[in-house]
Order: sequence, then C-alpha cells, then structure tokens
Amino acid sequence: MIAGTPTPGEQRPDDFRETSRGPWARTAELPLDGRGRHVHDLVIEAAAIHTPSGPRPGTVVVDAGTITAILEPDAAVEAREQVRLAGDEVLIPGIVDTHVHVNEPGRTEWEGFASATAAAAAGGVTTIIDMPLNSIPPTTTPEALEIKRKAAEGACAINVGFWGGAVPQNLGRLAALHEAGVFGFKCFLSPSGVPEFDHLTSAQLADAAAEAAGLGGLLIVHAEDPAVLAAAEARGRGTRGEYSGFLASRPDTAEITAIENVIAVVRSTGVRAHILHLSSARALPVLAAAKAEGLPITAETCPHYLSFAATEIPPGATQFKCCPPIRSNENRELLWQGLIDGVIDVIASDHSPAPADLKFAGNGDFAQAWGGIAGLQVALPAVWTAAAARGIPLASVLEWMCHRTAQFVGLTDRGRIEQGARADLVAFAPHAQTRVSARELLHRNPVSAFDGAELVGAVHRTWLAGGTAGPARGQLLSRSDPGR
Ligand SMILES: [Zn+2]
Repeated sequence: MIAGTPTPGEQRPDDFRETSRGPWARTAELPLDGRGRHVHDLVIEAAAIHTPSGPRPGTVVVDAGTITAILEPDAAVEAREQVRLAGDEVLIPGIVDTHVHVNEPGRTEWEGFASATAAAAAGGVTTIIDMPLNSIPPTTTPEALEIKRKAAEGACAINVGFWGGAVPQNLGRLAALHEAGVFGFKCFLSPSGVPEFDHLTSAQLADAAAEAAGLGGLLIVHAEDPAVLAAAEARGRGTRGEYSGFLASRPDTAEITAIENVIAVVRSTGVRAHILHLSSARALPVLAAAKAEGLPITAETCPHYLSFAATEIPPGATQFKCCPPIRSNENRELLWQGLIDGVIDVIASDHSPAPADLKFAGNGDFAQAWGGIAGLQVALPAVWTAAAARGIPLASVLEWMCHRTAQFVGLTDRGRIEQGARADLVAFAPHAQTRVSARELLHRNPVSAFDGAELVGAVHRTWLAGGTAGPARGQLLSRSDPGR
C-alpha cells in the first residue's frame, strides 16, 4: 500500500473530495452520447448520501452494477436512468442480514425463498445469509446445500448466501461443506427445537471448533447452556400465559455459562467464533474481557431485543416468544450500550417465522408456542426507531446492519456507499411514520411481534447492483466468490 493511502474503514471526511474528482478510469470504456459525454447506467442524486465519512449531498454514479463515482450535487453526467431522491429521502447502503431462517425446502409453509427475499427487498435488505436449520434437509452436507441452492435458484429477489450446520452427525466431515461454499458453521449448545438438527455437547463443541479452526472457518453459536435450562425449566411450567414464567425458564446464566464455554474453546483452538442473538446484557463483561484478551470472537443482537422489554409483553402474546428470550427494560438499555461500546459487533434480524397455528399453539401458553420472531422486513425501521429515540445516529445503525455484517461474513464488496462497492442501495425516508401491519408484510405468514408497532423510517426503493430488486434478480452467494 502507498504510504498515506487510507485503508477502507479509515476514510476521513476530506476523502470525499478525492472521490469527487470525477468518474474513474473505467468510464473511458463507456459509450458516448451525441455530445461526446459518457453514458452511465444509473445516477442517483440525493440531498444526503450515507458514505463512510458521513451523510452529504451528492450524486452516485453506477456502471455495470458497481458504484463508479460519487460526485458533487448537480454533476453533469449522462445516464440511461436518472433518479433524484425526494427531499425527505436519503440514500443508504442495502442491509446485509446475516441471520435469516428461510426454511425452504421442507418447511416452505413457514417461509420460502420467494417470500423471504421479497420481504427483504421491501425492507431495504439486499443480502441475507440463510440459516442451516428448519429447512429439510438441514444444510449439514454438501448434498443438502445443493438441494437448498436448487430450491433458491431463480426464486430470490435479493442476494442469498448459506450457513452450514455443525451437528454431531457431520463432525469430522466439515471440510466438504466448507469447500462447497457455506459461510461458516452454525451449532447449538442446547436443543434446537427441530429433531433433524441436534445440538453439540461440550466435548463435541471443542471438536467442531478444532475442525473449523483447521479450515480457517467460522463457528457461529446458539449459546444457551442445556444444564442451566434443564434446571430452570420447571419455572416455566404451569405459568401458561404469563411471560415472566417463560423468562424465568431461560435465565441469563444459561447464556453466560454457554458463552464462557465458547470462549474457552476459542482460547484453546483459535477458532473464529460468533455469538448469535445475544439477549443477556449480563454476558457483556465476559465478552468484553474475551475481546480485550484478543480472542477472535464477535457477537450479534437482534431488533427484538433492542425494541421490546419483558414487562411490555401482554399475557399470552406468544408472537414475542424467542430463545433466548426478550428480557428486562434495563437489559435492553445495556444491550444498546454494548453496541455503542463495541462489545456487540452487529445487528441481524434472526427472522424465524412459523405459521400462526404453531406460533399460537397452546392458546397463549408460552411453554407450548413455537419460538422465533418474524421481523426481516421491519428490521431496519425497528432498529432505527429505537436508535433515534436514544439519540443514536443513522450512521451507527448502518455500521451495525450493513458494513459490519458484510465484513463479518467476508463480503467486502458491499455494505458501504463508496467507489468500487456493489450498487446495492436503498432510498430511505428516515422521518416517515409507519404502523406495522403483519398482514401487509410480505413474509409468508402474517404473524410478527412487530404487528401494530409505530415506527419511524420507511424504505421507498431498493436497488440491487443498480437495478430494482425484484423476482429472480438475486444471486446465490458462495464463500469462495470473488469480492470476498
Ligand atoms: Zn436463528
């Protein structure tokens, strides 16, 4: 690298001038109009473009699916499509959601590729990474990955990559799945809820970690300790519709104990590990200490943990059931602080829908209802609403939901609006007021914890590689793709 050249992520505000000199060299290859000017594919002019150095007015130029320049406002450039955003709209990068359960094939009635990606596009999400379980077969072998890719092929409105699973049955054979292109391996430390995806014992976790480390792979973990859960299970019995009973059955100590276990295997094997859907803020000091030690561990939390508090959940409202559970108001505020402090790295939706008969099984009994929250389409406005209420800028939300999630899975070509990045872009109206109606969401099932929520922020348009996101426009991603 040339001395003084900023690396990505280190750009300073005055770098904008550097990229504003004009279209880069590639434009020399573009066709000319009648007056001898280059004709671009798309230009988008906006009063606020969210670049890595902050929001500023300007014009984004797109050629062949890539951002080729960011120019001054009113730049005289020719394009086949010229877009000027409305005064209340800002241009942001597409959301990269690294935690989505699509469930196709096998449980397509819960959610499928067409419905999930249509909902994603409507919510400003341009890339998702699909979880290996709830579909049948689960993505635990190269053959199962191929079945999943066939189901997704031609069905996706946005880009889709795949996590693999690490289960007792495929330990020792993770290399083939890794080579087949999964972005990493998901494992559970407690029962997953579906019979075809078994959890790992502590000894198996250590084996999986050693194996993944040997591959240079990533281990992503549902971290709740089964012994702590088993000891607490009775507290949830007989409480039926009372959320407090369910909460007592999934205590903070289940997460803390499991995360300590993960940290120990990271320390002993060197595996890169990621804590999925962190709910307990009481685990933050443990994670902070592991990071301070220099261990390669990251953590995510989810829109529902940042939006809701246990005391606000009405009796019998099992659309709020998820594992680990939504906890206290104080816990929610500490999770926000964990993001601000950098102990939590990313926000992902953990969109995990199910049909109403499962979500409301037991007529409001939290012990019987299926767990999982549907929120892919509303993740951005939900997080932005909660962030804005705390004085946190949109730039921080975009860092947690676009750039860092993309970096986390190695998709370095997206997640920021900068020259050379993919033109996955969203016209977002940050002050628009909306009320979520689960029936109007494009998810397959009209059940969501966000139903009725009053949110600020609306997605008006989503571009995928410079074209409007829509049916069959999405690509299937592999860990070995160029651009990673
Ligand atoms: Zn999940």
